[in-house]
Amino acid sequence: MLWSQTLIPTMKETPEGAEIPSHILMLRAGLIAQVMAGAYTYLPLGLRSLQKAMQIVREEMNRTGAVELLMSAMCPISLYERTDRVEAFGDVLVKATLPRGGRKVPIVFCPTHEEEVTDLVSRFISSYRQLPITLYQIQTKFRNEERPRFGVLRTSEFLMKDAYSFHANLESLNATYKKIYDAYGRIFSRCGLPFLPVEAESGPIGGDASHEFMIPSPNGEDKVVYCAACGYAANTEKAEIGPCRHGDAGAPPVSVDMKPLTELATPDAHTVEQVCQFLKVKPHKLIKTLIYLADGKPVAVLVRGDHEANENKLRRFLNVAKLELADPGTIERVTGAPVGFAGPVGLKEKIDVLADNAVRNCRNMVAGANKNETHVVGLCIDRDCMPQTSGAVQSDTVQIGSVQLGSMQFGDFRDAVEGDPCPRCSGSLSIRQAIEVGHVFKLGTKYSEALGAKYLDADETQKTIIMGCYGIGVNRIIAGICETSYDEAGIVWPVNLAPFEVLLCPIKIDEASMKIAHALHDELETAGIDCLLDDRDQRPGVKFKDADLIGFPLRIVIGPKGIEKGELEMKWRWSKEPEMLPLEGAALKIAQLLQEERHTARRFRAAMDR
Ligand code: ATP
Ligand code: MG
Repeated sequence: MLWSQTLIPTMKETPEGAEIPSHILMLRAGLIAQVMAGAYTYLPLGLRSLQKAMQIVREEMNRTGAVELLMSAMCPISLYERTDRVEAFGDVLVKATLPRGGRKVPIVFCPTHEEEVTDLVSRFISSYRQLPITLYQIQTKFRNEERPRFGVLRTSEFLMKDAYSFHANLESLNATYKKIYDAYGRIFSRCGLPFLPVEAESGPIGGDASHEFMIPSPNGEDKVVYCAACGYAANTEKAEIGPCRHGDAGAPPVSVDMKPLTELATPDAHTVEQVCQFLKVKPHKLIKTLIYLADGKPVAVLVRGDHEANENKLRRFLNVAKLELADPGTIERVTGAPVGFAGPVGLKEKIDVLADNAVRNCRNMVAGANKNETHVVGLCIDRDCMPQTSGAVQSDTVQIGSVQLGSMQFGDFRDAVEGDPCPRCSGSLSIRQAIEVGHVFKLGTKYSEALGAKYLDADETQKTIIMGCYGIGVNRIIAGICETSYDEAGIVWPVNLAPFEVLLCPIKIDEASMKIAHALHDELETAGIDCLLDDRDQRPGVKFKDADLIGFPLRIVIGPKGIEKGELEMKWRWSKEPEMLPLEGAALKIAQLLQEERHTARRFRAAMDR
């Protein structure tokens, strides 16, 4: 390919609105162009990388025995009504109504394909003899992300490799899940991505039924919790917290004098921050009391002021389908105060109280007083909040109403924070930002039940098919590389995903140089190497800047001095110094080097590890 014959609109300046490396670099290197917020055109170079990522995904999926198909990107909305997902997706679902003759046909642009694929299978699979089977595709998905950000990391239209497996029993599902989990490891390794598989929320099947594949990156929107000592890794929704140990922040207080429980007026202080400022205390000295509706029934949840309640853990513990923060009316009824003053002592209604483990031994804390503009100080959980502690609590200044607690249960009800104990070993947890690039999930029978995907088993009975689903964000593979592999000059591609593996860069566009350049180009192409020849009549500085910005792994400079000596200058994108290469047999040598790098990524990895 000749540079002059393709379209590579590189940019010197950082484009407006681009904030993170992948977004800035992909625009500046001429890989993508924005169409509107959340939608991008892949320009010729960007498309080449995207196609290479797709090919790696395809090869590894085929190796697992999965078979490729291509489902339509649009389907009737009725399929989503049958699984109750029109409401669940809400505004994320891209809907349209098609005029068809006199009729109007409501459709959706698929955000994922569980519905379509399960409907398909319900029509064509009817016997245990046809199971198991895994179907996959690489297809555009549509999700009206409210605030699409960060370039192609989060867009309203993106390419997903989505696979769906269908089984007669759990053992078969587990076997396929393992195969695809392993394939994901190979895919991301071949793509040169640093990745971390983490446990994720498991849904109906429970256990280790879901994993996300994360790329650790400061600009990731997700958080992963991991233990360097034993390798435990989970996303924040799922991450468990180990039992408190001596010396931990939540460990039993050995000898803290209990202060009297006292009410204080706290005008205009509603939030944790405002109360802390007003009373001059740190957030960890505060107890937040959150009133939730669990399948409609109010419950109070206590977490420390510096912690966040984890709704997934609460939902699982309570075994409810719906958990939401209570409305102001319910809060007022349950606590006797407007929003912002709920506390564990003196609730007006006898409701269940779930207290996070870190609250268990807290003494001399601040909490809402269940009275407008009022908090209590000196709250000691063991003295003031245990259900057996009934009757009035006397304090120096005010008498506080009796403790009305249905039952108080302690448990792990919050998000893990840096330094929390590991749930699996004696290590501590760390938290890192990460980009979710893939997800594997044991679905169970949610979709097959809703859409009637059944099979006749060997015992002649009708059974519901068990499913798994497995997604990879193909665009995020590309953005993930640009987010993790770059320097001040531009992107640093691994050979496997680079738009071209080698750039030929003649210093002068004269007859002698161009003759050599074209001959090399043709020989390399014949050897199956992706090769771009920069035939622009530009200053070498301009060409080198573009080469580094785009990040071709290998740059070959054809200069007049070298030609005289029968040499070419060869430089890997990640090394500082060029090497000289004899002109004689150069194409063969370059092809050998690149082929080796394709298979091992040895040089790229070594450079990344530095
Ligand atoms: P996220 O939490 O980031 O919104 P998700 O968990 O909703 O993603 P899945 O339904 O698991 O996404 O989709 C599978 C994969 O598709 C994700 O792991 C991710 O790589 C990719 N993906 C999801 N949403 C987007 C998006 N808006 N833009 C680009 N890729 C996406
Ligand atoms: Mg996901």
